Amino acid sequence: MSLLPYDDRDGFIWMDGAMVPWRDAKLHVLSHGLHYASCVFEGERVYQGEIFKLTEHSRRLAESARLLDFTLPYEVATIDQASRQVVAANGISDGYVRPVAWRGAEMMGVSAQKTRIHVAIAAWTWPAYFTPEARLKGIRMTRALYRRPSPETAPTGSKAAGLYMICTLSKHDAEAKGYDDALMLDYRGFLAEGTGANLFLVIDDKLHTPTPDCFLDGITRQTVIALARARGIEIVERHIRPEELADAREVFLTGTAVEVTPVREIDEYRFEVGQITRQLIKDFDTLTRAPAQKAG
Ligand code: PMP
Repeated sequence: MSLLPYDDRDGFIWMDGAMVPWRDAKLHVLSHGLHYASCVFEGERVYQGEIFKLTEHSRRLAESARLLDFTLPYEVATIDQASRQVVAANGISDGYVRPVAWRGAEMMGVSAQKTRIHVAIAAWTWPAYFTPEARLKGIRMTRALYRRPSPETAPTGSKAAGLYMICTLSKHDAEAKGYDDALMLDYRGFLAEGTGANLFLVIDDKLHTPTPDCFLDGITRQTVIALARARGIEIVERHIRPEELADAREVFLTGTAVEVTPVREIDEYRFEVGQITRQLIKDFDTLTRAPAQKAG
């Protein structure tokens, strides 16, 4: 990945309704979003100049904000339009879009009722999340330091900045041990997901995936489930115990950033990059690169 810092680049960022030069898209150090994590975001991919599932992502941004008790000051259609403008203004063909919404600096304390809600959308050219070698051979994962919290502990359906603290800590720990990513269990001890992607297991030619009742039901996850069903593959959504990794022949992750990425190793367990994974990688690539998706 590029070492070019994200605050020192050429281009344009949409911020609070206007397109501003990239380096001028700043917020004050006393912003509530920074101190108290009153901040939500999205991650979207651009394929051949078009944002994949744009409206689903814009809707999720609005819903994430609602779950953090704030309302975006823009309609979903406006966010959609601004996102497309950012992609065009920066001349992006294949890349990533990052919308973010946060509470401003009008109040500094736990209560934040009267803060202004800010929204910014940035986009940049960005190839694969994992190296091409990893995408082909599968990544290596280890158990995460932290578990996904219960919906009674946090607003787990929100793509909220605060929920990523445990992801960064778990990913750093995994990387320090030589792994690519961490596998997070949920608060009950069932398999949950990666630090930024959903999890699938192939057991007896069926696709098993954890029930998303305390983590994001990813847009890529939903897309891959539909692709698998179209191939006649049975989907089993359920609570999966970690020991069941021993029964899995194939394992892969799905997410906007990772797309469909095979997993070859989770601690003592080994998997092959098998037929179902390869088929779904191909189907996902066809879908995202096909002109038909541009209508959606
Ligand atoms: N879980 C987490 C923690 C994530 O950050 C992401 C990426 N947004 C996902 C799952 C996958 O979601 P999506 O397919 O919508 O990108």
